[in-house]
Amino acid sequence: MDIAVFSTRSYDRTFLEAANAKAGNPHDLRFFEASLTLPTVPLAAGAAAVCCFVNDRLDGQVIEALSRLGVRLVALRSAGFNNVDLKAAENAGICVARVPAYSPEAIAEHTLALILCLNRKIHRAYVRVREGNFALDGLLGFNLASRTIGIIGTGKIGCALAKILSGFGCKVMAYDPFPNPLLAGTGLEYIPLGDLLATSDIVSLHCPLTPETHHMVDKAAIARMRDGVMLINTSRGGVVDTRALIEALKAGKIGALGLDVYEEEGDLFFRDLSGQMLQDDVFARLLTFPNVLITGHQGFFTQEALEAIADVTIENVTNFEACGRALHPIGTERLA
Ligand code: NAD
Repeated sequence: MDIAVFSTRSYDRTFLEAANAKAGNPHDLRFFEASLTLPTVPLAAGAAAVCCFVNDRLDGQVIEALSRLGVRLVALRSAGFNNVDLKAAENAGICVARVPAYSPEAIAEHTLALILCLNRKIHRAYVRVREGNFALDGLLGFNLASRTIGIIGTGKIGCALAKILSGFGCKVMAYDPFPNPLLAGTGLEYIPLGDLLATSDIVSLHCPLTPETHHMVDKAAIARMRDGVMLINTSRGGVVDTRALIEALKAGKIGALGLDVYEEEGDLFFRDLSGQMLQDDVFARLLTFPNVLITGHQGFFTQEALEAIADVTIENVTNFEACGRALHPIGTERLA
């Protein structure tokens, strides 16, 4: 099958070519650095499938334009699919497939890295020591053992994080409208969202971005949190109201903030903009706080995860070509 691969970076190409070489009947991969938007749709001419990532925008107009070109499959290289208009795809008869579980440990471990780094101020200590400043003032942390951690969303990633944090001796609480049976008997306790916000020393977000979770962490939710709370978001930027976070950081309400995702990351992440003026004033303000640690959507970025993403993406296409059904289609029940 002819596949137009959008938002390609060198590592995408390396892993997808390796996975494609392993496939019995290799596909024709055409790589584009550009992200998929209405103006870049023509790059998919002649392709039966497009392969996309988290910041490609597959809204109604793009889906219609792809359909007119004869595209029949959208193969996402991600688990999240908030960037796709599924209803439009269904109407256009385009199948949307994803990689539902490539390596939840990769994101859970990155979440832990943010927690540990922020708590023990490793990002500040690194700079100080290199400058010959060995003073410890301002670097005071706390023991994770016995601390209460609130996990919002206990699917694959939240579950992996809960297991890691249990090993640290934390008291792990969770909120999820659909409790995970895999966590039964682990000591994790499901509690109402309001109680989780009010009692957690650290709140970590692992739910998808949906109309219900958009700005779930807003001014009112932050007001319910403990003073000095640590908040971590490795899910999707839109789950938090960034402006409300900034106000809470200024007031000292939020004691530490770790972000791997950002509401407007589509204009920033996955490229080197170090030679350009930063145009996003909200993001620029976030960067001024010493207790804010931001990574550019790298939670998934491990060898194991990239291999799994590439393998499953190629399998999705191969299956679709063979029987008209991808291995992991996003079911129409998701539209409800
Ligand atoms: P998952 O589908 O396995 O789990 C999501 C969980 O969230 C489910 O248990 C669901 O019931 C729960 N949920 C839904 N609505 C909720 C709500 N209103 N409140 C609380 N919980 C709710 O997904 P996953 O694989 O664990 O991934 C979670 C999210 O992490 C993805 O949707 C994606 O946005 C993000 N993600 C980020 C990266 C990264 O690199 N930073 C990589 C992969 C996934």
